[in-house]
Amino acid sequence: MSPIFYAIPVFVVLIALEMAIAHRRGLRVYSLQDTLTSLNIGVVSQFVNTLGGLIGVGIYAIVTERWGAFTWDTSHPMTWLTALVLYDFCYYWFHRLSHEVNILWAAHVVHHSSEEYNLSTALRQSSTGFLTHWMFYMPLALLGIPVKVFVIVGLVDLVYQFWVHTRLVGRLGWLEWVLVTPSNHRVHHGQNDYCIDRNYGGLLIVWDRLFGTMADERDDEPPVYGIRKPLHSWNPVWANLHQYASVFRQLARSPGWGQKLGALLASPGSARPGTTPPVVFAPSAFQRFATPAPLGMAMLGAACTAMGTGLLMHFLWFQSQWSLGERSAYAAGMVVFYLTAGALWLHPRVTGQPKG
Ligand SMILES: [Zn+2]
Ligand SMILES: [Zn+2]
Repeated sequence: MSPIFYAIPVFVVLIALEMAIAHRRGLRVYSLQDTLTSLNIGVVSQFVNTLGGLIGVGIYAIVTERWGAFTWDTSHPMTWLTALVLYDFCYYWFHRLSHEVNILWAAHVVHHSSEEYNLSTALRQSSTGFLTHWMFYMPLALLGIPVKVFVIVGLVDLVYQFWVHTRLVGRLGWLEWVLVTPSNHRVHHGQNDYCIDRNYGGLLIVWDRLFGTMADERDDEPPVYGIRKPLHSWNPVWANLHQYASVFRQLARSPGWGQKLGALLASPGSARPGTTPPVVFAPSAFQRFATPAPLGMAMLGAACTAMGTGLLMHFLWFQSQWSLGERSAYAAGMVVFYLTAGALWLHPRVTGQPKG
């Protein structure tokens, strides 16, 4: 049984709690379409990653079995602690390059596509990151860290990051020096100049301090959340693909293989021949993407998300009894469902034009 099955109800309760606390404090932290889109992206990513993740885990298992240098005692707490710290170090580099290399940014951008920042934003996980994610953990495999330990510390590292996606928790004193916290991760999601390419840590912020990518949250200029090239869509599948479309357009424009490779590996913010230069960001001029949400549309959207979540739990509960073909067909069906639902019900072309 996937631990995510048990995590889903906990996530839902914590999101409801955050909504209630924000409401009592008179803060506007959630908006309907954004929240539904975040949840839909999370559901799609679970369907895809439950299967796609098998590729990385399989390769990891082969490498550690054949070339693993050391034997690790899984009954010793130090094994787990060491593995967690090493995993987090590899995560730092995976995450950093996911921001600094065009083709990797295409997979990660979905996590940053929300212009809100709340616990539901944490669930905006990539559906394509599994293609390259495993490569960054090969040092752990070569050290012989068992696949079971790799998978569990990976889940710990990921689940830890859920709670930091909130605006309701301020700075946390000395913990800001050691851990990824709501404050320093808010900076990571900001599109202000001082936020770009900062605070890549997953569990520990010490890596950012060591490698010079740390920035503190500024009270005089709070982060404005989102991405410089805004998504402007509520479609969970397009949210995963829109930057790939942009990279492929860049590839098509680049003459010769050298330039095509350069386009894949370039920094996402760099200006290339035929592309627009980086945008100058003015926080006060920023307008959030918003479209009308009439009651019927809102209820249909919410029902769609609730149904998708229910089907995900059904999938996670029974999938171990099904063949790979059956699981793949189920997951593919859900992707098509979300592609259609996103296009028909929550897409601005139907619900109205975006502001700004
Ligand atoms: Zn990121
Ligand atoms: Zn995040």
